Amino acid sequence: MALVKTKGLVVKETAFNDTDKMLTLLTGDFGRISVTAKNSRRSGSRAAYGTQVLTYGEYVLFRTKNGFSLNSCDIRMHFFDLCSDLTCFTHAAHMIDMAGDASDDPVAAGNVLTLLLYALQALKKGRHPLLVSSAFALKLMQITGYPPHITSCAACGAKDMETLYFSFIQCGFVCERCKNLTGDSVEVDIGAAKAILHVLCAENSGIFSFELSDQVLLRFSQLAFRYIEERLDKSYRKLDFLKEL
Ligand SMILES: [Zn+2]
Repeated sequence: MALVKTKGLVVKETAFNDTDKMLTLLTGDFGRISVTAKNSRRSGSRAAYGTQVLTYGEYVLFRTKNGFSLNSCDIRMHFFDLCSDLTCFTHAAHMIDMAGDASDDPVAAGNVLTLLLYALQALKKGRHPLLVSSAFALKLMQITGYPPHITSCAACGAKDMETLYFSFIQCGFVCERCKNLTGDSVEVDIGAAKAILHVLCAENSGIFSFELSDQVLLRFSQLAFRYIEERLDKSYRKLDFLKEL
């Protein structure tokens, strides 16, 4: 049994036995892992420290053949405030879903965790939740090796594009002449195009530091979410919940 130390965010806690919890941690070193937290449901127990969802800290874990169990935690920050706002919490849950899938590649996990922490901080500061989760989806694709092609037409390479289209099959902007090649192109207005460029060029908290009108934000978010779903061949359904309210 070895002791390992890793920074991580608790993204799920499940009751387990009479007094224990099973945690899901997104870590920078091991990606998404399950961690047993013994006695963490005993009232007043020190073992509960650091085991609540949306806690970020440095975790010391026992690593065995069968997985990880919690030894201790040094809490660095938490995002419990987000739980009191249903819209913010739902967007946080959506980003955690996407980050979890991307963290299954341990090589990318450190960058994914950093991006998620900046996104949660942006939510906490009151940035528009849809803008934050849309920008997160697009940046996540870039840092995990699926950046959209934005410097010229993804099909013919033309640099001069008066009207911009986005093709999900060609993975990027396409020109007027190439827009019908794959049959899936959508027109991108200048506001959404600028938002895409901003997110792909920005770093850290700057990724989420921009504003869009409601109409442009809607088009930008539709494009960002469709892009990640088509690249990963997966549907993310957490935000559907907000449409039912
Ligand atoms: Zn073209």
